[in-house]
Amino acid sequence: MTQSSNFGFNTRAIHAGQVPDPTTGAVIPPIYQTTTFAQDGIGKLRNGYEYGRGTNPTRDALQSQLAALEGGTHAFSFSSGLAAEDSLIRAALRPGDHIVLGNDAYGGTYRLIDRVLSQWGITNSAVDMADIDAVRAAVAGGQTRMVWVETPSNPMMKITDIAAIAEIAHAAGALLVVDNTFASPYLQQPLSFGADVVVHSTTKYIGGHSDASGGAVIVKDEDLAEKVGFIQFAVGAVSAPMEAWLTTRGLKTLGVRMDRHSSNAASIARWLTEQEGVERVYYPGLPEHPGHDLAAAQMKSFGGMISVTFTGGEAAARAVAESTKVFTLAESLGGIESLMNYPSAMTHASVRGTDLAVPENLIRLSVGIEDLEDLISDLEQALGSLRG
Ligand SMILES: *Cc1c(COP(=O)(O)O)cnc(C)c1O
Repeated sequence: MTQSSNFGFNTRAIHAGQVPDPTTGAVIPPIYQTTTFAQDGIGKLRNGYEYGRGTNPTRDALQSQLAALEGGTHAFSFSSGLAAEDSLIRAALRPGDHIVLGNDAYGGTYRLIDRVLSQWGITNSAVDMADIDAVRAAVAGGQTRMVWVETPSNPMMKITDIAAIAEIAHAAGALLVVDNTFASPYLQQPLSFGADVVVHSTTKYIGGHSDASGGAVIVKDEDLAEKVGFIQFAVGAVSAPMEAWLTTRGLKTLGVRMDRHSSNAASIARWLTEQEGVERVYYPGLPEHPGHDLAAAQMKSFGGMISVTFTGGEAAARAVAESTKVFTLAESLGGIESLMNYPSAMTHASVRGTDLAVPENLIRLSVGIEDLEDLISDLEQALGSLRG
């Protein structure tokens, strides 16, 4: 099945790239745990397979699946989200080019661009992507070749208008990249709104089971695909066969998982707004969220991520983060199990003291697909710790 097929999302998730094994008929394509492939004569390859860094059938299956689900022509899978981002930027940009990114971009993305790629001559500026005039001013410099958007953003859950930013980026001669990790392709397909590239940390919702690190770049342009493919091969930050297979397996159930993540999170977000000690709930599904209408237009539903601030400041946020029993205190997100994170000292510690710093009274929830009543009881007893 190809990405151009007219099948629905869940059918594509289950079948794209998943051709039964030609030698045995195995319905689930096997894990090709091999680094090299026999040649039938010098340079006479079987189906183009030569060496594992270059191509591997298990990785190819995942890449077809990803391209089909994001509506791209090509997908490239990497060993982590940051490896994917690094390879994309080196493929698309040159020293002297400028990146404009959201001022609440994932901390690791900012660190990669600001502390690693800066040494390669890439400059950056961080702006509020919800402020269209500010974005227009930021890209006007002339050197801007890439605009980087995360929507919903991590952890402030800000919603950015992908189509509006695409227009501004293209007018300036820049590519629009959307980090679609929080929404996943089930909830939002940025290429359909004019983005040029989608990146993912497949470690999160796409893999979905907190057992395989990975990243992906999905494009719809032949020339860019060739450049990213070359860097994937020449730099070699590829996903290993086992990781690619686990990610493929997770991706097949993305739709049912996201429906459940979204409905659990919507109920929890509403419940949180009614609790004593809660200052503000950041969830795009709440009608009072400033990006609600835009999210409703751009996304199928509102996802499983919620951030909350507390009137009791840092101490309250830390106390709640350390008191849950079903929610596990851990970095990462997007798995079937509920996770709790204190960004300013965990995921976003690298941006402390910068413009991208996260409030110290904020916790972030990755709402899993457990029973809703158990999640709410757990939060209720954790919030109880605020009242001593
Ligand atoms: C986790 C994450 C990344 C980085 O991905 P890794 O797989 O950890 O390298 C990038 N963007 C977002 C939004 C993330 O949540």
